[in-house]
Amino acid sequence: MRPARALIDLQALRHNYQLARDVTGAKALAVIKADAYGHGAVRVAQALEAEADGFAVACIEEALELRAAGIRAPVLLLEGFFEADELALIIEHDFWCVVHSLWQLEAIEQAALSKPLTIWLKLDSGMHRVGLHPKDYHEAYQRLLASGKVAKIVLMSHFARADELDCTSSNEQVAVFEAARQGLAAEVSLRNSPAVLGWPSVSSDWVRPGIMLYGATPFGEDQALAARLQPVMTLESKVICVRELPAGEPVGYGARFVTPKPMRIGVVAMGYADGYPRHAPTGTPVLVAGQRSQLLGRVSMDMLCVDLTDVPQAGLGSTVELWGKNILASDIAVAADTIPYQIFCNLRRVPRLYIGA
Ligand SMILES: *Cc1c(COP(=O)(O)O)cnc(C)c1O
Repeated sequence: MRPARALIDLQALRHNYQLARDVTGAKALAVIKADAYGHGAVRVAQALEAEADGFAVACIEEALELRAAGIRAPVLLLEGFFEADELALIIEHDFWCVVHSLWQLEAIEQAALSKPLTIWLKLDSGMHRVGLHPKDYHEAYQRLLASGKVAKIVLMSHFARADELDCTSSNEQVAVFEAARQGLAAEVSLRNSPAVLGWPSVSSDWVRPGIMLYGATPFGEDQALAARLQPVMTLESKVICVRELPAGEPVGYGARFVTPKPMRIGVVAMGYADGYPRHAPTGTPVLVAGQRSQLLGRVSMDMLCVDLTDVPQAGLGSTVELWGKNILASDIAVAADTIPYQIFCNLRRVPRLYIGA
């Protein structure tokens, strides 16, 4: 069997969820969209269900997968419905629903619903992606109440730059939000992972941690609370071939690496078809037989090469950690010019093994 696999540490996941709650004192929706950022939404939801206040996903397809697996906890649809006919399923399965646009509000007003909805009313406080304009916010709230179709409304917005700790944009967004919700007596939800960790002054009855649950920092710099996160996913494989090369020999596609001296090279069963980033350059860190080493040459679809020259204990069958508790996914993201979110979401083909249940 091919030795590539992703270990998912559910104990670490629970630790990270608890950290989000402990540092905010708020209720926390665990954000498990995109198959829990590649970690497996059903298994992640099962592992958190006993303690989680609820879950958040991108769309009803993701939410239905959770219900089909027996998850009874609240599930918020972060983009609400895409078509009005989803409302029947939203009612049937008790999903919570974001309203970010006036057309959604109108659809609710016109729908015949057998039960009232729980709506998270989203304000565009400055990111200018989705969310109601501040001038429409009060009226939308009143119309939802007047429709008689809504049991509860939570007021929400989303930060564009909370991962930039020295940027004032989040404070400006909070000010826009506070002005828009003046006089509305309802719970509030503002904080995503970077705001949970880095913006302690922002008050939020509900927080929405995503990336931090999986143990990766949302910041590009060191941050005290982020240092307390525990990596959940370990992507590992094994050395399947060892080569001794003299100086001047090319390694891999395009001969992008040429040995500057005699070298020992290990070929690892891991490639971009597994989600390892093809743009990771020579020098990207890897852990081989417990020791830090480096990637050499181009990543291919199913294999990549690593430097064993200074890892004498490594050989055929040695375990290689591509990311995990020693090599952080965020470091791989930096090397490949992306973010840990995308590193995780790209995971495919490798079997996931769940530990710490
Ligand atoms: C994805 C998402 C989150 C989680 O963001 P993280 O940065 O991963 O914590 C929170 N809120 C909304 C609206 C989202 O779309």
